[in-house]
Amino acid sequence: MRQRIVILGAGTGGTMMANRLRKAHSLDDVEIVVVDRDDDHVYQPGLLFVPFGLARPAEITRPRATQLRNGIDLRRSEIDRVDLDAAAVHLADGAPLAYDTLVIATGAELLPEDTEGMTGPGWGERVFTFYEPAGAQGLAAALASFPGGRLVVNLVDMPIKCPVAPLEFAFLADWYLHDRGIREDVELTFVTPLDGAFTKPLASQRLSSLLDEKRIELVTEFAAGEVDGAGGRLVSYDEREVPFDLLVTVPLHGGPAYVGRSPGLGDELGFVQTDPYTLQSKAASNVFAIGDATNLPTSKAGSVTHFEAGVLADNVVRRLAGRELRAGYDGHANCFVETGFHKALLIDFNYETEPLPGHYPFPIGLPLLRESTLNHFGKLAFQWVYWHALLPGRPLPGIHPQMPTAGKRPFLSASKGG
Ligand SMILES: Cc1cc2nc3c(=O)[nH]c(=O)nc-3n(C[C@H](O)[C@H](O)[C@H](O)COP(=O)(O)OP(=O)(O)OC[C@H]3O[C@@H](n4cnc5c(N)ncnc54)[C@H](O)[C@@H]3O)c2cc1C
Repeated sequence: MRQRIVILGAGTGGTMMANRLRKAHSLDDVEIVVVDRDDDHVYQPGLLFVPFGLARPAEITRPRATQLRNGIDLRRSEIDRVDLDAAAVHLADGAPLAYDTLVIATGAELLPEDTEGMTGPGWGERVFTFYEPAGAQGLAAALASFPGGRLVVNLVDMPIKCPVAPLEFAFLADWYLHDRGIREDVELTFVTPLDGAFTKPLASQRLSSLLDEKRIELVTEFAAGEVDGAGGRLVSYDEREVPFDLLVTVPLHGGPAYVGRSPGLGDELGFVQTDPYTLQSKAASNVFAIGDATNLPTSKAGSVTHFEAGVLADNVVRRLAGRELRAGYDGHANCFVETGFHKALLIDFNYETEPLPGHYPFPIGLPLLRESTLNHFGKLAFQWVYWHALLPGRPLPGIHPQMPTAGKRPFLSASKGG
């Protein structure tokens, strides 16, 4: 009997999964339906460059349908809830969409309203987020006319998408202000709830010294509870204050609201409870999750979503064939960290191994935990790779879902998370 796979979300993970599964199954055997609320597929890593005039939202956005192979049915609708017992998704118009296999790829949502005052006076004037296109574009105008003063970059709390992006923003701001000739007139401060610049000890050390070199003040263990846009104050729950003239914030993140309306599916933040190795949901054996939508203790990143797609597509194929799932995902993540002045560093890690120095993906390759121009060009090239190889599901030579150990030194076991 013809099986129906329903994929929720046509962003990074949903598109990769739909294309990989379409290649793996004939139209006679499997119907693939993808649901998304809108038609704008944004290459989100490109949002980092918008505030600095290095990209425009239109240049990093493409229609969703053109990223999907023939034979995939794309439905445009808000998702209302998933009924696990009936194996059906309810769309906003109330119509049920039955599934044999469900893949959840609905990502993470920004929740700026959840921090007192954030979207009040000053929002879009002196308080911005570059995590969505309109905010990034508004910030570009604000930065271009910024006369100098206190520029504060803050992430409210983890988890967030691409945990290094706020740091990259601070490094690029240093470069941008330097280029504008006003760096000496700006007090640049990075405010984080973490006890260091990043979650992983070695990378945190390296990134903290970079902040120091660039004269970016680091304020740690700051749990932001309120934004006073009119008064220009960022206030923590323990009543510490950081004054600002311009605040660049990364708001709280949560899973999409429909997860909370789907009993048994998500955790308290609305992220789907997922097996960390097979990517099967903990709620039902025919439900899987990928990317930012999961509650996995790894980064919410496109690289993670790509590595997961390799394992998850294989597991969906296995399930349809009645074979055992493979516990093949190891938490592999990597991120280019733009550091300004045409340089970037690269970090590569998994559930068990923290970012280490060396090279990726082979002993001769991109340098790890070290600034280089090669890494910067790697980051820039990534947009092409994203549209032309990652989304269509084409193999990348030498890149595998599991973290490579060759090229890394020394080999330590360390913390999870991030
Ligand atoms: C500023 C920024 C910089 C980044 N930089 C990097 C980087 O350098 N490297 C890296 O690896 N990653 C980076 N990322 C993270 C990366 O973009 C995400 O991790 C990745 O896109 C996650 O893919 P996803 O499929 O899980 O979610 P998304 O690509 O966000 O897709 C989720 C989809 O679900 C849809 N959806 C959600 N809820 C509903 C609903 N109720 N009804 C209908 N549709 C719904 C949305 O419209 C969306 O299309 C960055 C992110 C940001 C914001």
